[in-house]
Amino acid sequence: MFSENNIIKSFLEKFKEAGEINKELIKKLKTTFADKIERALETMERGIIQYTFTPSKRILWTAIGDEREHILYPGLYCDCLDFYKNVVINKKNSICKHLLAQILSLGLKNFKKITLNDEEFIEIYKNNILKI
Ligand SMILES: [Zn+2]
Repeated sequence: MFSENNIIKSFLEKFKEAGEINKELIKKLKTTFADKIERALETMERGIIQYTFTPSKRILWTAIGDEREHILYPGLYCDCLDFYKNVVINKKNSICKHLLAQILSLGLKNFKKITLNDEEFIEIYKNNILKI
């Protein structure tokens, strides 16, 4: 678990520095999270979205799930049931498929970018929180 977290952290840090990820690191992610990679790739196909709100420039990441859109805090938190059950409560995993998909989508530059007004941020956030 500890090393999984380190890999996620180093991935996100490297991405911040260089703006892109080398293939080595993606390979490492795929091996470390072999049990989740299939589902993460499916999630990525379904859609990882980076919302940018103006004028605040606030960024919100979401993943399109089976039933709804999940709010993500990259490398840290997802509002899905799997994250709650297996990461928060049982401490069995360090991330869920949505968080892994978000990390992969960064590395592979495969995500949607949507720009919205700040007022819409509140709406999206409120609607998602209420559905948990
Ligand atoms: Zn999730």
